[in-house]
Amino acid sequence: MLALIDRYVKEACSTNRFETRRDVLSFAWSITLCVTIVADVLNVLAHYSLDALGWLPYDVVAAATVGVIISTLVASTLTFSIVYVVGLAIHHLTISRATFERLSRTDMLSGLLNRRAFLEEATRAPENSSLILFDIDKFKSINDQYGHDIGDQAIIAVAANLSENFAQCKAVARIGGEEFAVLVSAMTPTERFALAERCRELVAAQPFIAGASRFRMTISGGVADREDHSTFEALYTACDKALYIAKASGRNRVVHSKDVELLARAKAAKTRVAVRKT
Ligand code: GH3
Ligand code: MG
Ligand code: MG
Repeated sequence: MLALIDRYVKEACSTNRFETRRDVLSFAWSITLCVTIVADVLNVLAHYSLDALGWLPYDVVAAATVGVIISTLVASTLTFSIVYVVGLAIHHLTISRATFERLSRTDMLSGLLNRRAFLEEATRAPENSSLILFDIDKFKSINDQYGHDIGDQAIIAVAANLSENFAQCKAVARIGGEEFAVLVSAMTPTERFALAERCRELVAAQPFIAGASRFRMTISGGVADREDHSTFEALYTACDKALYIAKASGRNRVVHSKDVELLARAKAAKTRVAVRKT
């Protein structure tokens, strides 16, 4: 019985069965109704059985009527109180669990997903998706020049930009100090790359203002398509390499993993090459 209750409570928490007080109330009413009906039926059966055996010293109809009234009052009051109190406890547990779950997946500074939550989402990335890694350029010098608090606000501003730009995407995360990751699905690979490029342009175009501090920020990005890589690890490595090349080629640019070799060779030969345009 205890194991059954334990299983029920766990299942109720994980399925959000008692998400609202209204859920608790309607559950308590339905259980109360069932228990009261069962109690009344048993009461009537008991009276008529006793009467049939000749053990009932009262008129069976009157006795059963009084019995039903009493069992209705007792069963409904007790059942409703117990079920409602237990239901409320499960309701509070459900809320705490949801809050804890949300906090454990959220980056506290930016409000985006954190690295752990992003990796969970990303390992389930569909075939028609791209991974984008962004990194704020020369962020150390922003911290050095304007202070850590302004640095934090700059991270928040970039995060807000990404949230807005990739609003339709399921996974937008801050995966490190000034590093962000986005998983974009649907659309064509070219459109996904264009979205990354547009975001880079927007960050570069908007001056960052916090109190007396006003400066421009840029970000660099790497893009890799899921369909080109058999595992998430391979996808991440390719994307990270593309980001590295974006940095090495002068920053404030987005590089696709397919252009990495070309750009790396061009950089070695110190020549400029035409890479994909959006
Ligand atoms: P690059 O263009 O090559 O990316 O240069 P960078 O200066 O941005 O890169 P680097 O990795 O050298 O510096 C990142 C800095 O970010 C170093 C670290 O102190 C700072 N940082 C990491 N996390 C936070 C944070 O949460 N808040 C602030 N304000 N700074 C952070
Ligand atoms: Mg950086
Ligand atoms: Mg970095």
